[in-house]
Amino acid sequence: MKNIVIIGGGAAGMTAAIAAAQNNRQAKVCILEHKEIPGKKILSTGNGRCNFTNEVMRPDCYYSEHPEVIRRVLEKFGREDTLRLFRSLGVFVKSKNGYYYPRSEQAAAVRELFQMRLDRLGVKVCTGMHAKYIEKERTGFRIHASKSPAAEKEPNTALKADKVILACGGKASPALGSDGSGYQLAKSLGHTIVPVVPALVQLRVKNHPLKKAAGVRTEGTVSIYEGKKLLGADTGELQLTAYGISGIPVFQVSRHAAKGIYDHRPVRAELDFLPEITEEEVTDMFRAYRKKRKGAGIAEIFLGMFNKNLIPCLLDCAGIRSGFRAGALDEELLGRLLKTCKHLPLKIEETNGFEHAQVCAGGVELSQIDPETMESSCCPGLYLAGELLDADGICGGYNLQWAWATGYIAGTAAKAE
Ligand SMILES: Cc1cc2nc3c(=O)[nH]c(=O)nc-3n(C[C@H](O)[C@H](O)[C@H](O)COP(=O)(O)OP(=O)(O)OC[C@H]3O[C@@H](n4cnc5c(N)ncnc54)[C@H](O)[C@@H]3O)c2cc1C
Repeated sequence: MKNIVIIGGGAAGMTAAIAAAQNNRQAKVCILEHKEIPGKKILSTGNGRCNFTNEVMRPDCYYSEHPEVIRRVLEKFGREDTLRLFRSLGVFVKSKNGYYYPRSEQAAAVRELFQMRLDRLGVKVCTGMHAKYIEKERTGFRIHASKSPAAEKEPNTALKADKVILACGGKASPALGSDGSGYQLAKSLGHTIVPVVPALVQLRVKNHPLKKAAGVRTEGTVSIYEGKKLLGADTGELQLTAYGISGIPVFQVSRHAAKGIYDHRPVRAELDFLPEITEEEVTDMFRAYRKKRKGAGIAEIFLGMFNKNLIPCLLDCAGIRSGFRAGALDEELLGRLLKTCKHLPLKIEETNGFEHAQVCAGGVELSQIDPETMESSCCPGLYLAGELLDADGICGGYNLQWAWATGYIAGTAAKAE
């Protein structure tokens, strides 16, 4: 009987186990999971509601050094396959503007239904077991595990496996189990790791000009530039914090800033607080105020446009007093107002750390993986799945989709070959 051992019982590992164990009496499937339960991270996804896939499933919703591998994985296991998998587990699903959730909006129910299916299929889930290293043997593998990552002195348990599926996640939110140990395991078996940085994370701003507006949420666009080159931009609800900027649009572009900072490239952010109107429209608007609302102070004009707590910061940035009359605006001041409202520059000092990140950018190089099977080209019999790989999606269910897809492909191939 074939032994398939899956290291890491997250979204990818549990899906791999289900795929490997279903319709299969020829294999024993076991998950090694160092947390107390499998799927702990799933509980935190989508603010506890689990946004597990998306109506729009395009390869360009992901980043990687090898996007063609992502395309092939999604062709093999796309959104419809995920919906079928969920329905087969008994999850009623619903879409909110194309974002899929369980109908109950309870991530906990998703985790539980996965675990129930594992039990029903006879998958052995060894919780509290940390895989420390893997030896490649003449045939198969020997996995050395202990009760905790720190338990150096404790005798290791050695497990024989014909096939190993590595699904340890990255190192984002390590409190939920993904402590980065998967990179070492993959490296020890011959894999190259693309530098790993936090993604879907907040940005910290140097000499933060909007510090006093901490707590303000406002519609806006955040753009990340390297010199004049636009690396990424997104529009939505910006959240201003005492240390920098947050909110979904910031998360969406944060990987560009993180990669730039890692490579010591000069990246900067620019905020547009009026994304719904063009520069020309803003200029015309201020020119009209100059004529028609001569006596109004700039702060009064801003009051109709922006959150009140943001106004003093914007005026400081423009270098204009709040009582300055609209009628006295010359073209130079008008240019300053335009820049503040539509191109406010921010110096990005760093991102928040992995503990605050939802995912990692970087990981095991995808060119070393066969997208048809997720098998390693460095180490036959080894399969890799999930966030451990160099693929990071934008917000919206894409990272879980990647985990289900790669897990399912790996589990199916491991039992077949
Ligand atoms: C707060 C938060 C919210 C999120 N919301 C969403 C969302 O709504 N939609 C979405 O698509 N994505 C979301 N994500 C991202 C998504 O959760 C992850 O990309 C996805 O869970 C990755 O799955 P994985 O199985 O590859 O890794 P993980 O879920 O990290 O699972 C890896 C597992 O391996 C175990 N493990 C690691 N190393 C070892 C070892 N050496 N030995 C034994 N066990 C080990 C870990 O304990 C863990 O259980 C969110 C992430 C966070 C942190």
